[in-house]
Amino acid sequence: MAPYVSRINQIDAAELDVEIYKLLKNETKDIARYSAPGKFDKWQAEIDIALKFFIWKFSLQRGNSTFGQRLLNLHYANLNQKKAVLYLLLTVLPQYIKDKLANENLSAHGDTAYRLKSLVDRISNVISLLQLINLLFFLHRGIQSRVIELLLGLSTQSITTNKPRNIGYSYMTRELLWHGLMELFTVGIPMINFHYLKHTLQKLWRRKKKQQDIKLLPTMNLSTKCAYCEENPILPSHAGCQHIFCYYCLKAHFTAMNMFHCPKCDVKLYTENMERYTVATCTSNDTVLSLKGPT
Ligand SMILES: [Zn+2]
Ligand SMILES: [Zn+2]
Repeated sequence: MAPYVSRINQIDAAELDVEIYKLLKNETKDIARYSAPGKFDKWQAEIDIALKFFIWKFSLQRGNSTFGQRLLNLHYANLNQKKAVLYLLLTVLPQYIKDKLANENLSAHGDTAYRLKSLVDRISNVISLLQLINLLFFLHRGIQSRVIELLLGLSTQSITTNKPRNIGYSYMTRELLWHGLMELFTVGIPMINFHYLKHTLQKLWRRKKKQQDIKLLPTMNLSTKCAYCEENPILPSHAGCQHIFCYYCLKAHFTAMNMFHCPKCDVKLYTENMERYTVATCTSNDTVLSLKGPT
């Protein structure tokens, strides 16, 4: 009796084949990345064929296993040259026709092209359905995980004797830990109030300045910079000291906390004092004073 081949090995072999193909396909896409758009896309279907052909040539034509099977110590028991060629044609041609029709400008070819396309679509739906049914049968019987194996009557065998599948649990644990960590970061980081932390830390370093209790209204001229980001203030706003902030810089702080200290003058700013800077509200008293000041 032939050595038992587990279902998971067969499914994994098929998955690996898909992955190897995708890997190579991505490489070809990388080559085309810097060329004029549309130049390579036109040939995508042909490039796919070439790739599949080379994969086939070095796997099924030379030996009797796909790369995915080889990685898992499997092979086809009854593959001959004729079946290998049929295997290639059946995996390559339907996809090629589908790709070609998808990229082609159908209106240039009239009604028949549309009819052909709907026929191809219907056939590919049927194939997908067949794949599903085959998968269900495969899960039940444990042989022939791919439709093509069923069509060609191929059966998978293990090269090694009946050994249990070796799984490196250390890698799996590492992977799980890594995923856990990533999840923690993606969930946790948005919850940390960085503005608050930054201000608390700054408060530790900063020397206490005299608190100014007089409420000054800000003045703005061409050289005014945002007190937080030191850029030209966008939608200038203020909140109780004579410094101007970008609307975003100020709003971001007030979203994080109700009160913070102005980074320039250390005055406590409160969310309810936040106002957009307008010339009308602010030129009333102290602009006049500050304009007079230097003279
Ligand atoms: Zn700013
Ligand atoms: Zn200030």
